[in-house]
Amino acid sequence: MNKKRFKYSFVLIFLFTVVLVFIDTILTEEASEHYPFIWSLSLIPIILIANMYPKWKVIIGSGIFYSFLKYTTEFSQQINPDNSEINALILGSLINWSIILTIGYFINKSYKLLLKVEELTITDPLTGIYNRRYLELFMEKSIPIYKRTNSSLVFMMLDIDHFKKVNDNYGHQCGDEALRHTSSIISNNVRNSDVFVRFGGEEFAVILPNTDVAEGLIIAERIRADVEKSEFIYKNERINFTISIGVSFYNGDSEEELITKSDNALYKAKEEGRNQIAIIK
Ligand code: GH3
Ligand code: MG
Ligand code: MG
Repeated sequence: MNKKRFKYSFVLIFLFTVVLVFIDTILTEEASEHYPFIWSLSLIPIILIANMYPKWKVIIGSGIFYSFLKYTTEFSQQINPDNSEINALILGSLINWSIILTIGYFINKSYKLLLKVEELTITDPLTGIYNRRYLELFMEKSIPIYKRTNSSLVFMMLDIDHFKKVNDNYGHQCGDEALRHTSSIISNNVRNSDVFVRFGGEEFAVILPNTDVAEGLIIAERIRADVEKSEFIYKNERINFTISIGVSFYNGDSEEELITKSDNALYKAKEEGRNQIAIIK
């Protein structure tokens, strides 16, 4: 929900609450008796709030708020409720609370499901790291900020060398294991604040925010060397493979330009013999 809709919803909830108290007061004054069922209308703002903030704390909190409003409004009115009216008030509350808890349960459940689905759409199932979609969302959000603040950023594209041979010689399962192995080496060399994704196939991408040329190259070299000397063992056999890395630096580019620059750098690293780093500034 965007900010504007949030604002409108809050204004609506506020006005609805004022009107509810007003109607209850008028009705009670006109007829000289209580109308506790009118408070069932408070379920509308409670459901609206639960929809905006699907958290038990908020749902229970808003339920308590409207219960409090109901009892203070009813008891502040001049007519003293008799026993049957008090029973009706309490029964009404019990019914409302059971509806609040039931709706709260389902809203909460569907919200958790939504979060799970959102998580799945940005996660690569094989390696468990983020995927290209996450990278695109991140760049869409952060590149304009980098542009505005003139900050430094390193973008790396990493590709396993002759990966087809790993698949051809040892099978697809082994290739999958090699991808997980490579992913964990890269993961160990980046910070939590860095963005690391599987770009597709045997290609990974890393964004190092607030990092300059020298730092970026140190990290790229560390990853390259770690992959080269790592012990990848599949079915008791040690399999050696290497990685090539294309590094580029943010220079006011658009998202596409930044990816293209790293891609070109990667192509250069492959051309020049693989197992190395190439830079395009
Ligand atoms: P280069 O050094 O030029 O990058 O050569 P390469 O063999 O690594 O590149 P190429 O593009 O020829 O082959 C990439 C291979 O990666 C082919 C494809 O079957 C394999 N691959 C892509 N995704 C997966 C995957 O999820 N699992 C496995 N096992 N293999 C994959
Ligand atoms: Mg490759
Ligand atoms: Mg490739």
